[in-house]
Amino acid sequence: MHPEMTVKNHRIPSIWYKQTSNLSSGRTLNPSMIVMHYTTGWNGEGSRNWLMGAAGGTSNEGSSAHVVIDRDGTAWQIAPFNRVAWHAGPSRYGDLESLNNHAIGLEFVNSGPLSPDGDGQWIDPYGHRRSDDELNAAGGFIKASHPRVGGLVYAWPNYTKVQLATGYAILKALADQYPISAIVSHEEIDTRGWKTDPGPAFPMESFRQLLGDRNPAPRVKSVTASRLNIRKGPGVGYARIDPPGALDTGTIVRVLSADDVWRLVEVNDGPLSGVRGWVHGAYLG
Ligand SMILES: [Zn+2]
Repeated sequence: MHPEMTVKNHRIPSIWYKQTSNLSSGRTLNPSMIVMHYTTGWNGEGSRNWLMGAAGGTSNEGSSAHVVIDRDGTAWQIAPFNRVAWHAGPSRYGDLESLNNHAIGLEFVNSGPLSPDGDGQWIDPYGHRRSDDELNAAGGFIKASHPRVGGLVYAWPNYTKVQLATGYAILKALADQYPISAIVSHEEIDTRGWKTDPGPAFPMESFRQLLGDRNPAPRVKSVTASRLNIRKGPGVGYARIDPPGALDTGTIVRVLSADDVWRLVEVNDGPLSGVRGWVHGAYLG
């Protein structure tokens, strides 16, 4: 439904724009990641105005984002992509902390989990009861448990097709413009263990696949562990690449790609030059 989106001067000219009041001043964002969120609500314009703070006519002085994507596919950009917005909170990803300084924040309009009322209906975050029929009319839902929410099985409203299509178009435009190396959920970077967005109904893998084999700008790092296992895939379940099995402290590598906390690296010099494999990102500095 959207024409091809492109980024010009840190904005997507084909979508609505008005700047939020809630931005860090005097600080440039060079985005290398994208954080996916839900708004915890059904009302897109209400959430957009809230995230715009005073510029949206609200009292919010503590949060913002770059783009809000409504359930009908409408997108509103509220911050230029080279400005630090306030969406990630206390956060960590691999060796990066305070991800507001590294990441673009996309907010998808969605209520988040509804709790069972014990009587066949669901209660949304505002205390409103919703029936299965109502949720189905609004795009359907999945049922899933989630330890961060509680011990029950919750209803998680689906994201709509047009909303996701807008999200994909925006993500492609961003990946064409910036060296985006990771797309993450707010949940996986939140260091307080509170956040659950964008939740199990969000097709995170479809977004990650859009990055495909794009080569982000290579980043040179050195190994900080005494022996850092190098593996055939992003996880301890993958066999080590043997030889060399592991990399010594100080080995210089280029980071080619990322998957969760794992980094695909290539040894940059020395006798192992050209060896390529996956290592845990916590041991690169
Ligand atoms: Zn969030």
